Amino acid sequence: MATVNTVLGALNTKDLGFTLSHEHIMVAPAGFFRDYPELFGSNVVERLVGKLTKAKQAGVDTIVDCTTIDLGRDVNLLVEVSRRSGVNIIACTGWWLNAPSFFANISPDRIAEWFIREIEQGIGGTGVKAGVLKSAADMDGVTPEGSVVLRAVARANLKTGVPIVLHSFPRGQVGRDQLAILKEEGVDPRQIKFDHSNDTTDVGYLIWLMQQGCYLGLDRYPGEGVRPRERTITMKALMDAGYAGKLCPSHDNLMSYMQPDEPEIAEEKGMQANPHGILYMKNVVFKQLCELGASEEDLSRLCVEGPRNFFEGK
Ligand SMILES: [Zn+2]
Repeated sequence: MATVNTVLGALNTKDLGFTLSHEHIMVAPAGFFRDYPELFGSNVVERLVGKLTKAKQAGVDTIVDCTTIDLGRDVNLLVEVSRRSGVNIIACTGWWLNAPSFFANISPDRIAEWFIREIEQGIGGTGVKAGVLKSAADMDGVTPEGSVVLRAVARANLKTGVPIVLHSFPRGQVGRDQLAILKEEGVDPRQIKFDHSNDTTDVGYLIWLMQQGCYLGLDRYPGEGVRPRERTITMKALMDAGYAGKLCPSHDNLMSYMQPDEPEIAEEKGMQANPHGILYMKNVVFKQLCELGASEEDLSRLCVEGPRNFFEGK
């Protein structure tokens, strides 16, 4: 039986259900939420529980929170909102962009030890175990510090079997370099998901990644740069090419964030831009896919089969 670590304990992968594979419950500089809660507006926890409860009622079973420590991950918050909403939340270890410069001069094994501890023993003193590893490269490609983190993530994967999500820059095909390093470390490409892959419409590149065995996070919705409908047309092309089981659609939505001036007004503006929040997939994208000819059966597999396969390493 394959299991995945959620913030409330191990979950059978068969019970993941409808899974949004890349979201953020909260993003802020580390520690700000506990020390300066007023920067997040009033009743932020209640508002989060409300949004997640609504999502659960609409059929969202699981969220992978891709918030690393440098993005302000707060596991106690994840535990509270998961328990109160009934949505399974999978927490993340690893590192996003802007790794400290000293990372370039220490062994990946040393950093891997931290990630392994967060997977096997828990994060801080909480006992809450991470269920996914993360590393990042953007338009500058894999930097010296980023390379050390990537190798650390690889070594933690080899030790624990926990899969890897990669922040990537598909328009620059940066995934090719990330994959080469992970392969050099001995990582099975079926343990790797390239996130933000719908920031390009280059179906040839995306299919190449999946031919290597990797998964794709089509996790920018509504997103910027590429129009949402273009993203959906790309998704449909990948489904039609036979890769539905490798796709992990999601939003990369920031469900709460620090807004020094007027947090409530900022959130209101966000809601105007995307009133559906993390239900955009079900409310908008699935309708677009229907219009493009996807069947009910096709839709029932999306956000279910891909994430489950990913966590089972298929
Ligand atoms: Zn993200």
